[in-house]
Amino acid sequence: MTPDYRIYQYDTLPSTNQTAIEMAAEGAPEWTVVVAKHQSAGRGRLDRKFYSPEGTGLYMSIILRPRIPPSQALKITAAAAVGVAETLESTFGVRPQIKWVNDILVEGKKVCGILTESRLSGTDLAFAVLGIGINLAPPSGGFPEEIKDIAGAVTNQVSDPQAVIRKFLEVFYPLYQNLTVEPCPFLPAYKARLCCLHRPVHIIGAEGTWMPGIPVDLEPDFSLKVVLENGEVKSLRAGEISLRFS
Ligand code: ATP
Repeated sequence: MTPDYRIYQYDTLPSTNQTAIEMAAEGAPEWTVVVAKHQSAGRGRLDRKFYSPEGTGLYMSIILRPRIPPSQALKITAAAAVGVAETLESTFGVRPQIKWVNDILVEGKKVCGILTESRLSGTDLAFAVLGIGINLAPPSGGFPEEIKDIAGAVTNQVSDPQAVIRKFLEVFYPLYQNLTVEPCPFLPAYKARLCCLHRPVHIIGAEGTWMPGIPVDLEPDFSLKVVLENGEVKSLRAGEISLRFS
């Protein structure tokens, strides 16, 4: 089952998330989907950029109005990660993995970034915009130098983005409806695809500081339990943190 969605298709936008945030602020309903063939300023977490060339990628942002406390908004990203992974697996026969917290990898390369941005109304969540960028095929001129070692594509052939959007909405909808169920019903699926458990990583903090550690478990709220080099055990909340494999 898919939700009652409506797609707004653009040739190019600076950022589908930005347009969706503006539409949501003006009252656009839940399941409004903004899609662009190209983004000139696609964004990632922490002011990073998401490279979004025309013709080979899917760039979409979905307006959501979940009734959850803002502290649980990370579950939207987690549900979307499971949704994207299952969509790509069933559509293309690949075996996607999740790099905590919001990246999808295929054969070790990042093929998708997920960025959920939310706005508050008082202390409640007014809305959330779920942004998803997927490299369906390699860009015609290859990936830019800065990301060529980490980025990859789902397959070598350009495929129909509309079919991927429909499939994603079908897979994501039931996960989203269960966002507040405890224990989280999609946590096992997320954990099963995590590629960073028991592998040494560098934990990069907001100011570029880093610590070596080994992720050992996923907490019920999707925090990552890590054993640091000095033996200290920490639970990392996603906010400002990135992981790099050591
Ligand atoms: P990480 O935690 O891996 O540092 P992130 O989750 O903070 O990444 P995102 O917000 O998903 O990052 O996306 C931005 C980052 O993804 C960029 O800094 C760049 O390294 C990488 N990137 C940018 N464009 C692409 C792309 N088209 N495909 C794969 N990776 C990309």
